[in-house]
Amino acid sequence: MEPGLSLPNRMAHPGPPPKVNNALPQPAPSPSQRRPKTCHRPLLPAACALASAALLSGCGPRPPWPVQWLAESPLPRQPEAALRQCEVRLGLTPERAAPADATNFGERQGHDFYGRAVPNRPQLIVLHETVIGAADTLRMFATPHPNDDDQASYHVLVDIGGQRLRVVNDDKRAYGAGMAAWGDMTVRIRPTSLGSINNLALHLSLESPADGRGDTASHSGYSDAQYRSAAAQVLLWQARYGIPLSRVTSHAAVDRSRSRYDPRNFRWERFDAAWQKAAKTCGFEVYDTGRATL
Ligand SMILES: [Zn+2]
Repeated sequence: MEPGLSLPNRMAHPGPPPKVNNALPQPAPSPSQRRPKTCHRPLLPAACALASAALLSGCGPRPPWPVQWLAESPLPRQPEAALRQCEVRLGLTPERAAPADATNFGERQGHDFYGRAVPNRPQLIVLHETVIGAADTLRMFATPHPNDDDQASYHVLVDIGGQRLRVVNDDKRAYGAGMAAWGDMTVRIRPTSLGSINNLALHLSLESPADGRGDTASHSGYSDAQYRSAAAQVLLWQARYGIPLSRVTSHAAVDRSRSRYDPRNFRWERFDAAWQKAAKTCGFEVYDTGRATL
């Protein structure tokens, strides 16, 4: 759930919006966009291969969007041993497992409907807040949700005490920011897709304070322990995947549904101070770059 939404309806849906809103009406295709029926069976792996073959043969549909890619970062990727050492130096409490039900996350997709390769490695880090309490959020994620609109998750949740709770593994696609783009870059998988960044995002959410459990414009903010743990987790992700600091962002900044503006009251200067301290402690200052390419 996010501030700005009607609460009763969204109470069962903390943080992220629906993973991809495929239900919105789409404009009717122009004659040149209409596909022959033989190429029109969606979402089966074999259909993707067929669509690719049809494209190559010239008989198939014309993809209505180009595949977009983010530039590869030149930053190094640290081995697991270096990451473990960093955790020890930071005195981080180990992650606690709080797995989401399998209906609430998915696979990072390798191809779109037309069989074209799409970016699916972690390249962005998106910060959120839970709005409801951590325990309720985790209970929601652990509950099976067969309907698309109810499915939601983050990779990691940081509670008020600073404990990191592992909800979804990094290699899976958490449903954190369905209708979203980084600048104007987005990933579309299906013909009706409006675009999402979930395929290349890592999602971290902060437990909202008690006075922020609702659709209020502001609240009292986050604890020092949360800033420390969030900065440490972000740094570890950067080091594992070579992600520059310029690709650490907020749900508010990437949302394109015009309904999400979390994390409210997030103070970047507090995060930056915690991040700088952690980076120095681990010798990971190289990730303090504002640039994705050098
Ligand atoms: Zn969010």
